[in-house]
Amino acid sequence: IRYAEGKGWYDARVEARAPIPMDPATAVLHYAQEIFEGLKAYHRADGSVGLFRPDANARRFAQSAQRMAMAPLPEDLFVDSVRELVNIDRAWIPTSTEGSLYLRPFQYASEVFLGVRPAREYLFCVIASPVGPYFAGGLKPVSIWVSDDYTRAAPGGTGAAKCGGNYAASLLSQAQAADNGCDQVVYLDAVERKWVDELGGMNVFFVRADGSMFTPELNGSILPGITRDSVITLAREQGRHVEERPVSIDEWRDGARSGEIVETFACGTAAVLTPIGTVRGVDGEFKLGDGGTGPVTAALRETLVGIQFGRVPDPHNWTTTL
Ligand code: PMP
Repeated sequence: IRYAEGKGWYDARVEARAPIPMDPATAVLHYAQEIFEGLKAYHRADGSVGLFRPDANARRFAQSAQRMAMAPLPEDLFVDSVRELVNIDRAWIPTSTEGSLYLRPFQYASEVFLGVRPAREYLFCVIASPVGPYFAGGLKPVSIWVSDDYTRAAPGGTGAAKCGGNYAASLLSQAQAADNGCDQVVYLDAVERKWVDELGGMNVFFVRADGSMFTPELNGSILPGITRDSVITLAREQGRHVEERPVSIDEWRDGARSGEIVETFACGTAAVLTPIGTVRGVDGEFKLGDGGTGPVTAALRETLVGIQFGRVPDPHNWTTTL
């Protein structure tokens, strides 16, 4: 779907995937005015095909557009576009356990000019790709590198938007994590360098020995994850106390060492819930529990995946069937 100022959204079409020819002066190539989303379509236990909270992705997409000085796509157009793409051929949705069709809606400045100002023309696209289970051999705890040199987002910046520039800024620290033998990066806040924000592509939760939980509050530099929001709701329904508040790296380290924090997990659309086993940084290393998968992480994951695949009731109507 195209957009032009004064004309609005127009020219919606479905076509075979092909390269998009671009003028070398296309705005997105220079100023990264681009946003995206990630969601999945699943085969459900009752034979239907489902999307998990696509309205939440549509809302966040519109908020990201606003932050990146672009007109928001109407939320129903977002959901209808995804629905139409999936319905072209449902045979592309894997039937393997926890397999799904990953959907990537994105919108970028397609206007051709070199001045620095918001573009007046964009293109919205959705592409799809089948994906297998994230953890083929069962849940595997990941190791996390605490980024000391780099931050992901600063106050007043774009951290709460899902824009490509945030990920460009995180590539070097991802490489640094890999160099230090870690799977993922955890970012600290940009000002005091002590508050835990999130991972490169996931939000983070902490579980205490008494079963209560806490997670960094949405402070403007954290992406408001849809999985995060779902986990908070489910955990509270299970009778757990869940706090959203600042969490320092010292509280995490000291809590893990003293046994007060027994589990930490990351969550996002790709892996749903991922246990964090080891945290490493320039100050040394600590483990969560025995470094394995904790029971609270495993149970919450089971419930959320169960809702997505239609194996357990969905009292919040989070699933949209196609
Ligand atoms: N934080 C970041 C930086 C992310 O890229 C993602 C993935 N979209 C998340 C958190 C988790 O968000 P969600 O649960 O909506 O996938």
